[in-house]
Amino acid sequence: MTGDYRRFYKKPVAPVRLKNALEAVSWNPSRLDPDVKKLYNKWNREYNKWEKKEASSRARKQEFWEKWEKKEDIKREIQRGIELEEKETKAYNKLIWDTNNTEDWGVEYDCRYDGCDGKILRKVINHHKAHHYAFLECSLCGRHQKWLKNPEFYDEDNDDW
Ligand SMILES: [Zn+2]
Repeated sequence: MTGDYRRFYKKPVAPVRLKNALEAVSWNPSRLDPDVKKLYNKWNREYNKWEKKEASSRARKQEFWEKWEKKEDIKREIQRGIELEEKETKAYNKLIWDTNNTEDWGVEYDCRYDGCDGKILRKVINHHKAHHYAFLECSLCGRHQKWLKNPEFYDEDNDDW
């Protein structure tokens, strides 16, 4: 907490003499003797002052936390935006890569995923891997279907696709 809020005002305590005198007049200040009345007025002024300071300190604290929360909300919102953009960029880059590396756009086969009516897959060459040299991807939903083995290493007749 910042030092600002630590400027602390002690709650004024009524002197015992005043308490006793008030009790004797059933807590009715107008019935106090003049000298005790003076004491009461002094205490009352201090108490009111303290109460006012307390209220403004509470208000400042609340304002501080409200501002802080708002700032945090904005930070979170920006972070969410950045993450979404990164995700979209990744998906976009993948799409470009896939497109550039598509060898066959018309492999006729049903998409393996429920809820997708895709009937055409595309064959994408995966240059970096000797064994999994290509994969099939649904043209409709874009999801991966199957890795294809390199025909240079495997007999294509064994491929059930
Ligand atoms: Zn699909």
